[in-house]
Amino acid sequence: MARCSVCGKPAVYVNRAAGLALCQRHFLEYFDRKVRRTIRKYKLFRPREHIVVAVSGGKDSMALLHYLHNLAKRVPGWRVTALLVDEGIRGYREYTVKRLVDYAEEHGIEYHIARFKDYVGYTLDEIVRRGRELGLPYLPCTYCGVLRRYIMNRAAREIGATVIATGHNLDDIVQTFLMNILGNDWAKIVRLGPISGPASHPRFVRKVKPFYEVLEKETTLYAVIHGLYTGFEECPYAQMSIRWTVRRMINELEERSPGVKYSLLRSLETAINMLRRQGIGEPDEEEGLYSCALCGEPAAHPICRACQLRLQLGIMEV
Ligand code: SF4
Ligand code: ZN
Repeated sequence: MARCSVCGKPAVYVNRAAGLALCQRHFLEYFDRKVRRTIRKYKLFRPREHIVVAVSGGKDSMALLHYLHNLAKRVPGWRVTALLVDEGIRGYREYTVKRLVDYAEEHGIEYHIARFKDYVGYTLDEIVRRGRELGLPYLPCTYCGVLRRYIMNRAAREIGATVIATGHNLDDIVQTFLMNILGNDWAKIVRLGPISGPASHPRFVRKVKPFYEVLEKETTLYAVIHGLYTGFEECPYAQMSIRWTVRRMINELEERSPGVKYSLLRSLETAINMLRRQGIGEPDEEEGLYSCALCGEPAAHPICRACQLRLQLGIMEV
């Protein structure tokens, strides 16, 4: 059995790449140090903030809500609110909504739920069905990702957020990096940094990723220790996504060659710096170059991606 590198007690966490084993107490200290270092290094927050935590009810976002809610108790200028976008995915979202509601009520955290149905008139299930009937070439995650980001920005602004914090961890970020390389989508790579915005568009809410340098196995363990990882339900559309394959591939590589994930993160940072020097994909350009001609929200094109999809689906009145 592995022993804690600090105190010699039985280890609950082993990191082969870093040659590190930690007991529960020292793991939590290590986790806290790591997240604080990210917050400081990238100046993610200001002294006065209304932080809206984008919660899905999954382990990463619940871990982030727990972490920031506790951190904010020591920062007088911070207020933390949870916001969940309910896409309307039957057999999945009901459970994660319940997890957020139970946790928020138990800890006295203000929370909001923004439904696809209320913002775009249809649930994701209805949209996916309609897209199939029309023969549109998109995977469910494409509708979901575009519309969720759109609704998240609108709803967060409506409740007065100064910043949106998302639970993306190092694994999510390097997966997206590889997916963007596979799609030759370099402009999107710049947005993968720990902070995006503020864009020049007044309706765009700045976004930050406090778990940018934390591995998925670390956020999972943090969630398990705090009793936040109570269910294993998975989105029924997940296995259809490219991410599913990329995730498995990176995990296999990490198994064979520990440290690959960190190397990918460093490569991402190099790529972002190189792209910025060439003026490619600045946040301003991506999110706030236009006001969408149809809905007025920040857009990278004269009509925002959410409205483009809604037009293709025939679910938007113009
Ligand atoms: Fe949405 Fe895809 Fe995630 Fe399901 S797996 S919640 S469809 S992005
Ligand atoms: Zn629009």
